[in-house]
Amino acid sequence: MKRFTLFNTLVLIIFSLALVVSAGDKSHEHHAENVIKVDDMGHETALCACGKEVSVTESTSKYVNEGKTYYLCSDECKAQVNKSASTILPALDIKVMAKKAELGTLGNVYAVSETGEKTAKCACGMDLKVNDSTVKREYNGQTYYICSDKCAAVFDKDPKKFIDAVK
Ligand SMILES: [Zn+2]
Ligand SMILES: [Zn+2]
Repeated sequence: MKRFTLFNTLVLIIFSLALVVSAGDKSHEHHAENVIKVDDMGHETALCACGKEVSVTESTSKYVNEGKTYYLCSDECKAQVNKSASTILPALDIKVMAKKAELGTLGNVYAVSETGEKTAKCACGMDLKVNDSTVKREYNGQTYYICSDKCAAVFDKDPKKFIDAVK
């Protein structure tokens, strides 16, 4: 019994440490939700709810809620978001994904529908509609969706080759 408790304590400590480390990682490279581009100098461009692209500076308007930050082009847009965040922000999240897909920075997703459905191109050439059970891999902070375990094995063997094939 004593040994069991010690084991549990150790597991808890290790788990807590892992949480702290992963939280640290996230904050390090976390951008606001609607940042669509970051240049080599680290300058960010965000997509406002109105569809305008905004170069982010210290003075850019922002809306912060529940740990999420959105940059907005004007105080008018900020007032709009303040008024109806629960409808505007989910729609904006989809627009941001669609823009990233267009820019080619959403892994191998190349299209996002108005309802947020993603379509990706697997390295074998197959188009796939992404759902919760789609096989996926993370690489360099991006998610790649894969048609089958067979193609996943190709990815695991040489991720770069897979990624080159879907570009
Ligand atoms: Zn705006
Ligand atoms: Zn495939």
